[in-house]
Amino acid sequence: MIEFRDVTKEYPNGTVALRNVNINIRPREFVFVVGSSGAGKSTFLKLLLHEELPSSGSVRVGRFELNGLTKQQIPLYRRQLGVVFQDFRLIAAMDVYDNIAFAMRVVGTREKVIKERVNYLLKLVGLPHKIHNKPSELSGGEQQRVAIARALANNPDLIIADEPTGNIDPRMSRELVDLFVQLNDAGTTVVMVTHAHDLVRQYNKRIIILDNGTVAADGGLRQTGAAAGGTGPIIGGNRFVNAYSGIERRAM
Ligand code: ADP
Repeated sequence: MIEFRDVTKEYPNGTVALRNVNINIRPREFVFVVGSSGAGKSTFLKLLLHEELPSSGSVRVGRFELNGLTKQQIPLYRRQLGVVFQDFRLIAAMDVYDNIAFAMRVVGTREKVIKERVNYLLKLVGLPHKIHNKPSELSGGEQQRVAIARALANNPDLIIADEPTGNIDPRMSRELVDLFVQLNDAGTTVVMVTHAHDLVRQYNKRIIILDNGTVAADGGLRQTGAAAGGTGPIIGGNRFVNAYSGIERRAM
């Protein structure tokens, strides 16, 4: 589904944000990507979303080789992704229905189909009763659930979530990740970039730790890993890796 092969990203000012990164994510996997500030998480996402191109190496997502995407292919490519952002990015002037419908209207879906799908998606995220509310009338957790419904509107194979719980309280954060797990169980590949170490420890999923532009660890969190981790925020990259003593390190 996703393949980063020997990817290096150097920005024009000489900063190397990713260095020789190799990552393979198979269809139907659930992967957390974690790392301290400056580790390269945003750069990883920008490459995935085709907002940046690698300086060397290649990024492949599904049938798309991103280095070689033509102008015509870019919208096709983005359409197969469902993207969820930290700040929700809902349209303030539109109600919940239209925020979700909008994603389908831009690809020419018929209104009757849109109506059925919006109703279905709002049930899925547990918000059918908010269909005619504006985003400002919803809590952060509710807004993010609408954003997830919108991300699912065109039935993507892959969900990419960028710090989706960054503006949400811990209980609701857990519910949101549970929702991603549910979507993943139904067959959608999920890549979630997050700072929320405590949250990640609660799930037995693959974790890729970026540190200073490289993959510092990649593997599952064993039961013992959760116990080994501290509870407070962990700031330095190395301390973070140490906190995940349960991570099985693979030879990269
Ligand atoms: P994270 O999302 O993990 O905080 P980033 O991918 O944003 O990490 O940043 C990785 C490194 O690349 C950092 O040193 C950052 O300062 C640098 N960086 C990010 N974006 C740019 C840019 N547009 N130009 C130059 N350097 C950048």
